[in-house]
Amino acid sequence: MLAACADALGAPFEGRPAAEPARIAAIMNRPSSPLRWTDDTAQMLVLAAHLAECTGEIRREALAAALARAWEAEPGRGYGMGAVRVLSQVRSGVPWQRAAASVFGGAGSWGNGAAMRVAPVGLVAGLSLDDIARAAAASAQVTHAHQLGIDGAVVQAVAVAVAARTSRLRRLAADDLIAVVAQYARTPEFTAELRSVPGLLEGAASDIAARFACDATALGSVPAAIAVFLRHPDEPADAIAEAIGLGGDTDTIAAMTGALAGARCGEGAIPASWALRLEQSMRVWTVAGQLSGLGQRR
Ligand SMILES: [Mg+2]
Repeated sequence: MLAACADALGAPFEGRPAAEPARIAAIMNRPSSPLRWTDDTAQMLVLAAHLAECTGEIRREALAAALARAWEAEPGRGYGMGAVRVLSQVRSGVPWQRAAASVFGGAGSWGNGAAMRVAPVGLVAGLSLDDIARAAAASAQVTHAHQLGIDGAVVQAVAVAVAARTSRLRRLAADDLIAVVAQYARTPEFTAELRSVPGLLEGAASDIAARFACDATALGSVPAAIAVFLRHPDEPADAIAEAIGLGGDTDTIAAMTGALAGARCGEGAIPASWALRLEQSMRVWTVAGQLSGLGQRR
């Protein structure tokens, strides 16, 4: 829910240079005007519904088909070019393995599309972190054949799970979270970026924007979202504002930051005005509820 709000709040700033804090605050604090979410939330809803239906498991064939149907139903949600090429192929009957491997000159996508939707995997109760990493990888593979794209999803899902399992009564140990999450990255590039995060928690937010590309790549955005979350683990609105302020792929970095903050702080942390402004909020609440009910069913 917080991720959906953050996606919508970040969307007006996507692809632009870093915005002034006052402009971001104006959008965040506006009393009315609907919050319209983008492909990040559209895909998160698909993945959450899939997990609820499959009792916490990923069935890649069915997930690929569901993602492709969601894209076809609402192609105007701001999907990236690579996503459109993969999902349109899946929709026309090409097996997901072939579609995912066909893009970017046969390398597969290293974009943040699998990471942006993966949060629900990290919220499945009762799974070990190993199981969450495996499920996250499976959920990524249906569109992302490149290991960097898969690492992005695995790292974000494990970070969401660790955040969800921390107690708000205790200070979040950033170094511990990074150490755990970094174990699950398979590429040395991802490990290196994650290891730089603890050094960025005390300085200026602009250090994060300077350190990471903050673009639509998994490597350029997932560590940035984790860094921003760790700077404000108990103040979701501050974290989301800072994520948007990085510039670049603002809706996705904000959505990933919002997912981490929501995992730690719970749905109660959502400002009421955001929840009221969010489009299709009943649908988002319903899917979130199904996901949390999964823990009892499993
Ligand atoms: Mg988007």
